[in-house]
Amino acid sequence: MTRADVVILGGGPGGYAAAIRSAQLGQSVVLIDEDRVGGTCLHRGCIPTKALLHAAEVADTARTAAQFGITATFDGVDTERLHGFKNTVVSRLHKGLSGLIDALGITVVNGRGRLTGPTTVEVDGNTITGASIVLATGSAPKVPQAIATSDRVFTSDQALDLTTIPESAIILGGGVIGVEFASLWASFGVKVTIVEALPRLVPNEDATISTYLERLFRRRRITAKTGTRVTAVTSDEDAVAVTLESGDLLTADVLLIAVGRAPRTANLGLAEVGVELDGGLVVTDNQLRTSVPTVYAIGDIVAGLQLAHRAFQHGIFVAERIAGREAELVADSGIPRVTYCHPEIASVGLTEEEARDRYGEGVETVTYDLAGNGRSQILKASGAVKLVVDPSGAVAGVHMIGDGVSELIGEAQLLYNLGVKAAEAARFVHAHPTQNEALGEALMAVSGAPLHLHG
Ligand SMILES: Cc1cc2nc3c(=O)[nH]c(=O)nc-3n(C[C@H](O)[C@H](O)[C@H](O)COP(=O)(O)OP(=O)(O)OC[C@H]3O[C@@H](n4cnc5c(N)ncnc54)[C@H](O)[C@@H]3O)c2cc1C
Repeated sequence: MTRADVVILGGGPGGYAAAIRSAQLGQSVVLIDEDRVGGTCLHRGCIPTKALLHAAEVADTARTAAQFGITATFDGVDTERLHGFKNTVVSRLHKGLSGLIDALGITVVNGRGRLTGPTTVEVDGNTITGASIVLATGSAPKVPQAIATSDRVFTSDQALDLTTIPESAIILGGGVIGVEFASLWASFGVKVTIVEALPRLVPNEDATISTYLERLFRRRRITAKTGTRVTAVTSDEDAVAVTLESGDLLTADVLLIAVGRAPRTANLGLAEVGVELDGGLVVTDNQLRTSVPTVYAIGDIVAGLQLAHRAFQHGIFVAERIAGREAELVADSGIPRVTYCHPEIASVGLTEEEARDRYGEGVETVTYDLAGNGRSQILKASGAVKLVVDPSGAVAGVHMIGDGVSELIGEAQLLYNLGVKAAEAARFVHAHPTQNEALGEALMAVSGAPLHLHG
């Protein structure tokens, strides 16, 4: 029987962060994963998608080079080299992570684990005992029951490795994963149609951001059918057909199902041991403890944002608590959210609607269009920075859209999480010419002292 201070089930960003920090704090650690350490993020999520999106940006740069006086052409996608590039990035990071885990003396057990008691996990008939157990089994793509997957109908897991670029694609779901693939494929020349049941794309973002995205996607000839549901999906050797509730029939080469991700908590023995679940998600208190005091849950299996950096912070947090340290969790509203489509989206804090619900009167907003920002003009980046300020004058939300805005989220999250007053932040200087100035201009404008802003 193996024993450790901390036994972690799942080696994604949540689980491996918990393992690393626990080991750094002197705990003995067993990390169990049925696949490779790194989880969804490294192998099927953040890293491979962003590698492909970078290649898409290169394609766009080649296609639009003439606008900048450069002679270049986009002649197509060599999928073998494309996947070679993506896979090299993933395998380098995997090697680095495995080396780090090894160097810290963490025991990695490869196999499917199951909770068998408050302090025990079983893997392939072997019992591993931990004074504390951390559940970090992550999530998997949801597939509506009525839809049968095939070579033409698939989720992001398969979409990452397509060996041929389709001529046309329908994407079911206009959330983060849906719009990232829409953007990527459109850059590769695919005719893309997104179908979203809610009234707007990226429905979790501020409504102004959705309006900008829909407009900028239209310019890229990405079609968005919002506020409509799919009633039937059929596919054969040649095509996939999607019927909408309006009766419209869409056909394409492939259908990507991007309707969200479900927590992987089935068949883990959780209910038998007394770990409370709600709709498949593990119920925790604000210290990420489950209903069984020795068992913690982190990452995508805990209700809230499904993001790798949230899982990292959960992992670090529980490791510190288990080691007896004081630690504080940043609430989900303070966690930066980035969508890496073209144009990029980055936000933190409350949307205007949420701020008005919370504070009522006295909420101020300003939207600074990137048309007034020199660097964005050079980069031909369209978009905006929207600030939401609460009645005390503190920054309550920052919502940005436009290529390059992901890099502005660092300042934005500090403004929000430190409760900085917009007028106070407005007196600090932003370098010229940077896209960062757009955030500075928005701070000045919302404080009543705009500079480069037309009335
Ligand atoms: C296409 C896509 C793009 C994404 N892009 C981003 C992005 O740009 N930025 C971002 O922040 N987030 C992104 N995400 C989300 C991010 O990947 C997840 O939020 C993150 O991986 C969650 O981490 P986790 O540790 O909770 O779970 P996971 O990463 O899912 O890891 C769980 C691990 O547990 C293992 N496991 C599960 N059950 C068992 C078992 N019974 N026994 C043993 N092992 C088990 C799995 O093999 C897996 O390795 C993306 C996701 C997808 C799908």
